[in-house]
Amino acid sequence: MSRAAATQAFVVGHPIAHSRSPLIHGHWLAEYGIDGSYTRRDVAPEAFPDFLRSLRRNGFAGGNVTIPHKEAAFRLVEVLTPRAQKIGAVNTVFFDAEGRLCGDNTDAPGFIAHLDQSLGADWPERGRGTALVLGAGGAARAIVVGLIERGLSRIFVANRTRDRAEALVALDPARIAALDWSDLPVALSQAGLLVNTTALGMVGHPPLAIDLGILPPEAVVADIVYAPLETPLLASARARGLVGVDGLGMLLHQAAPGFARWFGVEPAVTPALRARIVADLGPQ
Ligand code: NAP
Repeated sequence: MSRAAATQAFVVGHPIAHSRSPLIHGHWLAEYGIDGSYTRRDVAPEAFPDFLRSLRRNGFAGGNVTIPHKEAAFRLVEVLTPRAQKIGAVNTVFFDAEGRLCGDNTDAPGFIAHLDQSLGADWPERGRGTALVLGAGGAARAIVVGLIERGLSRIFVANRTRDRAEALVALDPARIAALDWSDLPVALSQAGLLVNTTALGMVGHPPLAIDLGILPPEAVVADIVYAPLETPLLASARARGLVGVDGLGMLLHQAAPGFARWFGVEPAVTPALRARIVADLGPQ
């Protein structure tokens, strides 16, 4: 009797050796006893369209797309989810029932799911529906879309390059406002949630230097940088008695929807999974 072929998925990027996605998906494949694989694919930009077009032929159920291919995937897939449409970038591809190649962006629900799991579902109300997002790059766009979907009523965006913050306002002008860095104190005094989406605080970058003393005492500080796990921003938030949320949870939660689509099981983000990736990140 012939055995059904194991389901194959991938993460594609250039370079890709640093990606922790195979560790995450490998953990889930073992945990759920699934006969499948999830491998790294290093594909240069000029070869990416062919790579995507030949997925079916090469036996893939789908995969993750990372830097520098997220915008190219957005242009190349046949069907976009409404969320990917808004974000303008695709990080997860899969086939629908008609065999069409679809693109989704799971960074937005990944960020929100991590907040829900860490803080409890009522965090938006406790923060009076107000968030301040620092940065306006690709990750910020996904997070702003996630915050809108989650029902926040006021979202301030401050970025070194003001034009990029202005571009995010178009997502929902009634709820989003762009700020200059010099306007931060006013926004900080109102924010129930502060999110760093800039590269500041990451290994090799300067720390994000802002005065957290202006935040309301019940404010939550989230940093999506996860190398190091405890950024100077999070350390300073905790030193002030504020709740801090690190960036690893977003990385783990953004992986779950793809796994469910390719392998048919909704995976759980557990302390064991987190411990495995923390161990891989090495001493902090
Ligand atoms: P990106 O599109 O390149 O955007 C980078 C952002 O950082 C921009 O807002 C940029 O401001 C700002 N920035 C960079 N250097 C700065 C500096 N010296 N001073 C002030 N602002 C500075 O990158 P991205 O994809 O959004 O990623 C941003 C960060 O999020 C990275 O650290 C990345 O590792 C992390 N990330 C984490 C996850 C997760 O799952 N936890 C997911 C995605 C990304 P300008 O517009 O002025 O250049």
